[in-house]
Formats: sequence, C-alpha cells, structure tokens
Amino acid sequence: MFICPICKSKLNIVGKSYCCENNHTFDIAKQGYVNLLPVNKKHSDNPGDSKDMVLSRRAFLESSYYDCFADKLCGIINSLFPDTQKITIADCGCGEGYYDGKLESISSDYDLFGFDISKEAVRYAAGKYKKCNYAVGSCFNMPLLDEGFDLALNIFAPMVESEMARILKKDGYMIYAVPGKSHLMGLKEILYENTYENEEKHTEYDGFQFIDRISVKNEITVNGEMGVNLFRMTPYYFKTEMGAEEKILKNNGFKTEIHFDFLIYQKN
Ligand SMILES: [Zn+2]
Repeated sequence: MFICPICKSKLNIVGKSYCCENNHTFDIAKQGYVNLLPVNKKHSDNPGDSKDMVLSRRAFLESSYYDCFADKLCGIINSLFPDTQKITIADCGCGEGYYDGKLESISSDYDLFGFDISKEAVRYAAGKYKKCNYAVGSCFNMPLLDEGFDLALNIFAPMVESEMARILKKDGYMIYAVPGKSHLMGLKEILYENTYENEEKHTEYDGFQFIDRISVKNEITVNGEMGVNLFRMTPYYFKTEMGAEEKILKNNGFKTEIHFDFLIYQKN
C-alpha cells in the first residue's frame, strides 16, 4: 500500500527493500520502517519531532493519561465497521504509534499503514508495533496508494483534504481528531497570563460528507516531569518563551482538562 516517492507506482517488498516497477529501491531499516520522503526533503535536516520530543511523548502516553481518547477512537471505529470484515487503515501523521497500538482491541481485523514526517517518531513506532507498517513521509504528499483505504486517521496532524480523499476508497471514512475548546487549559494557565479556549474547527472538506462530531473530555492530574513531557507534545513547546519547563516543574503538579473532538467524515 506504499507508493514510490519518485514515480508514484506501487511498492512491493523484495528481500529487505521496497521496490517499484521502475526499479526505484528503498531499504527497510532494521526496525522495519522505510523512508519514503522525496530525496530533496530527506536531506534537509530531520523534519518533524526530535528524538527528545518523541521520548517525552511516549513516556506521557504510556502513562495512560490519554487512554480515554484511544478507547473512544476504538469505539468509533467499531461503530463505523460493525461487520468484522478485514479493513485497511491509514494513520496519517502517526507519531510514535500510540493510537496504532491501541487499535488491537477493535473488532475488525485490519492492515495498518502509518507514516510521519519525523524519522525518530517512525523509528519508535516501527520498533514497538510490529503488526503495523511504517514509513517516513509527509501529509502533503502521502506515500500511500490511491483509493487503497477503508479508514484514514488524522490525530492532530496537518489536514490535507485532497490527499485524504485520494487515498480513501469511495465511501471510506476519515476520523480527524482536533483539540477541543478546553484542551490543556490547566497547562496553558501555568504558561500564559491570558488564556483562551481553542477555536472550534469548521467541519466542511471537499470530497467529504460530514457525519458527526464526538467530544471526549476528562480531567487529569499531571505530576513533576510528566508535565514537561506533556508540554513537549504540544505546539506551545515551539511558541513559548524560555523558562516554560522550569515554570511547569516549579508548579509541582497540576490539574488540567483534556478535550478532543473526533470529527467523522465519509468520502463521497
Ligand atoms: Zn518508482
């Protein structure tokens, strides 16, 4: 289900490589992923999350704070695919694979293909979630076959609706998770003097019918270092002035709302 970044034809596994009909060859790394970023992008210094960010993310997510979101995601998938036929799933911007690991509890059998712009993130995903297939690739130029997927996930990744529509089968579903209004309010209150609720995303995308918005809210208590791990997963990490991590550590634990909206779409 992966495609060649040079000629866009289907890739097949040949020995320890992926190879297309035009003999473009991409080696499979020892953790099991393949780098499908176009060559010009590959040589710009590693895009996406750094190793430190990936490790923070994994430490935070594996401490179960976001299990309510993973559980709801599995519930939504079960409701969209009630007859347990085998489905193909694309995880667009898969990060270190946390949600992919959680999908093992859905009732359908599936093949999952995930990609992320961060090589470090993909390396960790591939190292842990052996049932899934991983590539380094971009949401703006997805390394995935046209109309190959029953379901595409986008969890806090860039939304490129034309690419989403391209990879989905007709009537396929897209689940787009976005931060809800009150997501991480408690963290923002530590970082900023004035805090605002997140804006609600509009719901129309070309080529898709909007089906539903499902909100999931919870309150969590985050202690010590774990607060810093959470901070490093957020866009605030890039936007906040120096000293933010010290502020979080000084606070010695905090409560925060967590709030995802799952937007569900069906391809026309
Ligand atoms: Zn090729």
